[in-house]
Amino acid sequence: MSKYLTERLGTLEAYVPGEQPQDKKYVKLNTNECPFPPSPFASRLARQAAAGLNLYCDPECRTLTEVAADAFGVRADQMIFTNGSDEVLDFAFIAFCGEGAPAVFPDITYGFYPVFAKKDGVPYREIPLTADYRVRVSDYIGAKGTIFLANPNAPTGVALTRTEIEEIVKGNPDNVVVVDEAYVDFGGESALPLIDRYDNLLVTRTFSKSYSFAGGRLGIGFACPALISDLKKVKYSTNPYNVNSMTAAAGVGALLDKEYFESNIAAIRGNRASLTASLEALGFDVLPSSANFVFAKCSDISGEILYKKLKEKGVLVRYFDKERIRAFVRITVGTAEEIEALISAINEIKEGK
Ligand code: PMP
Repeated sequence: MSKYLTERLGTLEAYVPGEQPQDKKYVKLNTNECPFPPSPFASRLARQAAAGLNLYCDPECRTLTEVAADAFGVRADQMIFTNGSDEVLDFAFIAFCGEGAPAVFPDITYGFYPVFAKKDGVPYREIPLTADYRVRVSDYIGAKGTIFLANPNAPTGVALTRTEIEEIVKGNPDNVVVVDEAYVDFGGESALPLIDRYDNLLVTRTFSKSYSFAGGRLGIGFACPALISDLKKVKYSTNPYNVNSMTAAAGVGALLDKEYFESNIAAIRGNRASLTASLEALGFDVLPSSANFVFAKCSDISGEILYKKLKEKGVLVRYFDKERIRAFVRITVGTAEEIEALISAINEIKEGK
């Protein structure tokens, strides 16, 4: 750290993304990526767009906007495109929170929320999940702050229904409710249909998971036109060219290749069921997941030990050194072969090998 860094950033602990080790080839079940490559059509459009990289990209992503409006059943003025959904989440902290305008989120949720808050000088309050790791809706009525809810939640995978989200949105008419739907395509109920009726709802989505596009960095915010224009004010004051031409083109391809999307989602849901069954057969408690990962704990081995031993055996999962969840590991739902490799590694660990 240099002596020039501001005090706020000096004391900030930056977000630690999941490991992307390069030392050897791992069975990589630690960052909730999709194990399947992006749609070949999306890749083709990205390659074509590469030929025009001498020109700036379209800051309004007009072609993508048109295709997305059709795909999601919304209007162009109800969307903003960003560099991954992390960016639209950060824009929301910048636009709707600040000194005297706190943020509110669960104690166990996406680890980037408190980092955004601290970076942006936003005070925040964490509301504990229930003992069974659920969001209790009544805790969020009149919450006196901008609410951030991942739904399905991460790292638990547990989801609220649309009706429950609506209760929270209705119960906070003077604050924005941000519903982070990074994992919704794997089985959650989206709040997207509510944006026509509530002017305080922002729904965020990502292409990183269900569209196999984590490396491409594409996110979307959906809300009423007034909220979108607030977010665009932040975007145009930060980086109008936040979505590059290749990514915007690939986004078009990903949305148009519906068959590819549906078959990948079906595969992941099937693999989630078999992963859950195999873990339960090995004595794990697995929280009910609506996402492309499961959060599981085993009574005879701590999350940290399991994570370390699996890593030694070439299987990466995610462990969080955090109160209430130290017993757990988060495991991304991979291919059938990856799940087999994980389960046989766990078997070996249990047998003391
Ligand atoms: N929300 C949640 C709950 C996540 O787990 C992630 C992925 N780390 C994101 C948002 C952001 O994903 P991306 O920036 O790749 O869209």
